[in-house]
Amino acid sequence: MIISIQAEASNDERAQLMALLCRITGNQRPITTTRIREREVIVLDNAIDGQAQAALREQRAVADLQVIKTGYQLVSRAFQAEDTQISIGEAHGCEPVVVGRTAKPVIMAGPCSVEDREQLLETARSVQAAGAHILRGGAFKPRTSPYQFQGLGVEGLHLLAEAREVTGLPIITEAMEPDMVDLVASHADIVQIGSRNMHNFPLLRAVGKHRLKRPVLLKRGFAATVEEWLLAAEHIVAAGNPNVILCERGIRSYDPQTRNVLDLTCVPLLQELTHLPVIVDPSHATGKRELVPVMSRASIAAGAKGLIIEVHPDPDSALSDARQTITPEQLRVIVRETELLTSLLKEGSDLTHAA
Ligand code: PEP
Ligand code: MN
Repeated sequence: MIISIQAEASNDERAQLMALLCRITGNQRPITTTRIREREVIVLDNAIDGQAQAALREQRAVADLQVIKTGYQLVSRAFQAEDTQISIGEAHGCEPVVVGRTAKPVIMAGPCSVEDREQLLETARSVQAAGAHILRGGAFKPRTSPYQFQGLGVEGLHLLAEAREVTGLPIITEAMEPDMVDLVASHADIVQIGSRNMHNFPLLRAVGKHRLKRPVLLKRGFAATVEEWLLAAEHIVAAGNPNVILCERGIRSYDPQTRNVLDLTCVPLLQELTHLPVIVDPSHATGKRELVPVMSRASIAAGAKGLIIEVHPDPDSALSDARQTITPEQLRVIVRETELLTSLLKEGSDLTHAA
């Protein structure tokens, strides 16, 4: 249940509402207010009977009371009918890129890991020339083995900031632990939460309550259900940051032919369940560079609001995820195909609406 608080409510009216909520919940659950853009809300679970709901509706401090039938509430389509659009990059002086528009899917591209200055700047310039809108690159890398390259750390963040300076492209990079959020959020335009950390609740809370409210790319846990993923997003929004982008990056299966199974069904499904934008990562989903172009097309056809793709000037020499990394030239074709496909899909939907 979501209670929207009347913007003009007096302190007394608010105090009265809080007292009533404490009585109703028997002081057993914490009652906190959250600001979602211009709205101030209180979220409670739905175990509140009709009589109590009626009493709440009569409070002067209550502007609206919505009973949401799903466990995730603030991210649900039932709470907000219109798509969330998230503007990226203004904080660092970039031309803003808007994620959440079907008419203009956003392409994020760059190396799996930031390796050195030359590699990053060359990749940044070439993905920009290929038509990408945002530069990706891991500075802190969650690697399965402790003996593999773990990323350049803080130096990687500085190089990403330099690449943004040179190209004007906003940057996205991963934060792996709560203590790192301030550092990453102050350098990056989007903070990525990796698949392995989707259930790291302290990290979700940290990006949620961080003062900068930096947009967050929340990758799906490789064994997470859609509901668990939405509840992870709910943690971030409930902590105060409504700027969440969901990223489908494949889920684990029994078949080693591909690195993961790209669950494209979740893209239109999420369109029904949530107002948050959904993008797809065809690189980690497939693990094979030859599958990246076709699954990029399929993702856009399924309604993805963008793609995040691993690109390197010399893919075979990439220090991480070489097998799934494509060249800037291959990216250029994907960007062009995305544009063509988007206008074709728009024509199709215009026809449907006209019929
Ligand atoms: C990555 O983007 O390089 C990455 C580690 O992705 P994921 O968390 O989806 O495995
Ligand atoms: Mn990678």
